[in-house]
Amino acid sequence: MKRFFLSMIMLTTICAAHAQKPEDTEVYLPVPPIVTPGTNYGDAPSDAVVLFDGKNLDQWVSADHTNQPADWIVQDGILTVNKKAGNIQTKQSFKNYQLHIEWKEPTDIEGEGQARGNSGVFLASTGPGDDGYELQVLDSYNNKTYTNGQAGSIYKQSVPLANPAKKPGEWQAYDVVWTAPAFDENGKLLTPAYVTVFFNGVLVQNHFELKGQTLYIGKPFYKAHGALPIKLQAHGDKSKPISFRNIWVRELK
Ligand code: MG
Repeated sequence: MKRFFLSMIMLTTICAAHAQKPEDTEVYLPVPPIVTPGTNYGDAPSDAVVLFDGKNLDQWVSADHTNQPADWIVQDGILTVNKKAGNIQTKQSFKNYQLHIEWKEPTDIEGEGQARGNSGVFLASTGPGDDGYELQVLDSYNNKTYTNGQAGSIYKQSVPLANPAKKPGEWQAYDVVWTAPAFDENGKLLTPAYVTVFFNGVLVQNHFELKGQTLYIGKPFYKAHGALPIKLQAHGDKSKPISFRNIWVRELK
């Protein structure tokens, strides 16, 4: 009998120690920062770095000659590719971020496949030319090409989950979450890059793990780097140049 009571006391003590309260799983710190959203969907929120608001290219330089200004055309609040001037990139470098960018194919677009309104958003520019990680921009409304090269693809690495492309002449939007790859001090890859992309509000890349930089020829591989600029492509196809507007980025700490 005595042993029974002792056991009961021990059991009660154990239960009391493990009694869970709702408060045990409530978190009060850190407090998320207050961010004021834009008035309309796609407008830059209060904590965004505005990269292009229709006025000028003050946030950009030539990608091949970074001491020279970005020589693309700004007119009526719109940025249009100047193919002769080559790629342009942000003055500022970024690691992990959320990006919003809108783009439009010309109404009278011509050409086919990869030669029909080709441009691109290099989520990190690892060097001149097309070095980096390209989110493809292309007229994919009614234009057959390799699917890992259509709009919304991570060029030659990941086919988009859907094709929500709008007609040429209509504005389209990418909303991107970019997680930069991390390397140790010897340049060894610690964690790969990941990307999530919404194309016109439709999920087309879902936390895709990149295999390295996006290459035109060959298998992708990583080269160590830190924070890098975002780059826009002046593709050499013969079709009319595409346009951009409303570009902003939110750095993720
Ligand atoms: Mg491209």
